[in-house]
Amino acid sequence: MRDTLVLNASFEPLSTVTLNRAVVLVLQDKAVVEQAHPGLRVRAAAVDIPVPRVIRLCRYVRVPFRRRAPWSRRGVLIRDQHRCAYCGRRATTVDHVVPRSRGGADSWLNTVASCAEDNHRKADRTPEQAGMPLLREPFEPTPADAMLLTLGQSERDALPGWLARAAA
Ligand SMILES: [Zn+2]
Repeated sequence: MRDTLVLNASFEPLSTVTLNRAVVLVLQDKAVVEQAHPGLRVRAAAVDIPVPRVIRLCRYVRVPFRRRAPWSRRGVLIRDQHRCAYCGRRATTVDHVVPRSRGGADSWLNTVASCAEDNHRKADRTPEQAGMPLLREPFEPTPADAMLLTLGQSERDALPGWLARAAA
């Protein structure tokens, strides 16, 4: 079972929790179900509620600091919508703009989605050295966007339109 997305009372994505935790929050009246898996119910002793896909906290939680979006190869591909940063075709790999062999980091600003061909062609060079300019600059997703990025594709596709747009 997929994790459940937790929204703040302000509808801003906050985190993901296990289904069990989500159900507990709903049963304790700390959250309401914003979207449920169609046709699925949680049934236990005295419990019968829809399986939540998205819940929203009833009380606004002040977030003292926003954790930065954790970097991941999958996240980079999703951020770049699986489009190669060098040619715009479908990307299946992640390229380090400054190669790791030259001290380039695993970071949002140093990685882009790339087709396997361009990744191979660029090899151990910077875009300038390889004569392969970036079609767009890499950027760091907001923590809220990153939260949505952690959901699977099918989960993101199923989100309400007003939420899914943030992760497009
Ligand atoms: Zn390419």
